[in-house]
Amino acid sequence: MSHAISQYKYKEKNGERMSDDRVQADIRKYALQNAVFFKGTANPKAVVGKILGENPEYRARSSELASLVESIVSEVNSMGLDMQAKALQEIDPALAVKEKKERVYELPELKGAENGVTARIAPGPSGPLHIGHTRVSVLNDEYVKRYGGKLTARFEDTNPEKIEPDAYDMISEDLDWLGVKIHDKVIQSDRFEIYYDHTRELIEKGKGYVCTCAADSWRLLKEETRACPCRDLPLPTQLERYDRLLSGGYGDGEAVAVIKTDIAHPNPALRDFVALRIVSHPHPLKGSKYCAYPMMNLSVAIDDHLMGMTHVIRGKDHLNNTFKQEYIFDYFGWKKPQYFHYGLVNIPDAVLKTSLIKEGIRNGDYTGWDDVRTGTVRAMGRRGIRPEAVRRYWVECGMKAVDVQFSWDNLYGMNRDVIDGTSNRYFFVPDPVRYDIEGIDSLEGKAPLHPDHPERGYREYFLDGSKTVFISEADSKTFSEAKKIRLKDLCNLDYATPAKYAGNDVSVLKSGVRAVQWTSRKSVGAELLMPDGSILKGLAEDALIAEKGDTVQFERIGFARIESKTDGIRAVFSHR
Ligand code: GLU
Repeated sequence: MSHAISQYKYKEKNGERMSDDRVQADIRKYALQNAVFFKGTANPKAVVGKILGENPEYRARSSELASLVESIVSEVNSMGLDMQAKALQEIDPALAVKEKKERVYELPELKGAENGVTARIAPGPSGPLHIGHTRVSVLNDEYVKRYGGKLTARFEDTNPEKIEPDAYDMISEDLDWLGVKIHDKVIQSDRFEIYYDHTRELIEKGKGYVCTCAADSWRLLKEETRACPCRDLPLPTQLERYDRLLSGGYGDGEAVAVIKTDIAHPNPALRDFVALRIVSHPHPLKGSKYCAYPMMNLSVAIDDHLMGMTHVIRGKDHLNNTFKQEYIFDYFGWKKPQYFHYGLVNIPDAVLKTSLIKEGIRNGDYTGWDDVRTGTVRAMGRRGIRPEAVRRYWVECGMKAVDVQFSWDNLYGMNRDVIDGTSNRYFFVPDPVRYDIEGIDSLEGKAPLHPDHPERGYREYFLDGSKTVFISEADSKTFSEAKKIRLKDLCNLDYATPAKYAGNDVSVLKSGVRAVQWTSRKSVGAELLMPDGSILKGLAEDALIAEKGDTVQFERIGFARIESKTDGIRAVFSHR
């Protein structure tokens, strides 16, 4: 041992003596490990990091520790890789195995969140959530969980024409599935009086008016930075009109309550905006109780204030809304939440539009909100996409303001990481073609339920009698062309009628023989619902009946979620 080591003495701390030997042994262990992982040369910094990570109490003496590490590392580095590996094996063979690093998915820090986050997700109950909606839900939930606080689900149902009565419950279920923790639920249609009172106050403050102009002419005037004649009518007239607006004195489109901004605002989208409008369409929850309906910017601003939102995290498409809502905050002198706008996501190849799905369900094109051809959260769940994967996807996407293209392949990759370990392997043979095998009395084979988990056991095969197997139509074609095929985990076959047993030498694969999945007579009827709505019909091995897991991997086909086992197997394809 070198001089530096013998000089290094730990003092007693908290009455407990830290042993010299233990530290030195640890340093040597990690130095050897680091050296073995990095072609014979350990990095002292990495070793110090590892020691400090495990023994934070050494932090106070880090320079002392560093010089000790330095000297042990230089000794280890002079040993040569073979000796290092041998020495490491002697200490603990497990140390020589590189740990698979679990990838950490984490959002950037959130400004102003030190004392907790009060946030909301504000879905419109026009249908259940789709994959696009999950981003706002996950981001808000992640931050509330990280910093503590409160997350409210606020159902923004102020457009009676766009409400699907079942959506309130469906959205709650979807959030639950996603693992989003909701602390409070609020329905905006329960709060109309609050919005009415605040609008009245704004009118009284001279910040609002009731406009009875035709919508088009009001808009045209704004484009020319000109006020409509209603804008400057005296307050008593405004209030009279306002009472009339609330009490049903105007028909659809005949009057609106408007919030004043700056009629000459350089951004035309921000020049005065509508706060309340007349809608005669009955509200699914409130019937015809109200005729004046708040527009989003009014109800959102008031609720965000009254519910004490500290952070509003939403997409960049809400940027102009934020500016409008800030006018309301300013008129009342309210403290504003911190606003964050992440970039837009383009989700290709997905049916997301609620109205289209609804229409499809109505006319029988779709089987329901969980139709696998749609991009709803329900469809994802049905296909065996796990909420963890969806969450990882959005956390990795983060809060950046740049617009992004959604990648199904990335989501599937993340889902594969989540379900691979728990998905046992089985054979599923679509469009089965029968072969009888001759040339041997009986056949035996076995395949692990999961190649990484031998402890889970095996699917064991025993075939005698006519030794009937089924392979897929596509593989049957290959068999007839190539004249040879391998039944995975069972045997090789030569093409003939009946097929001829050709030994069990796996090395035929090296010469290009294809190994295919197969089933025997002991198989069960199975159907695999594909993402395009088509159904692969075939046979699955009977061991699948006893499978407890939610998802499996059909070898050579892909992952699938088992949807039902009564009357054969019904599975839904996830991804490859
Ligand atoms: N209800 C709005 C929407 O679904 C969200 C409002 C908000 O986040 O401020 O687009």
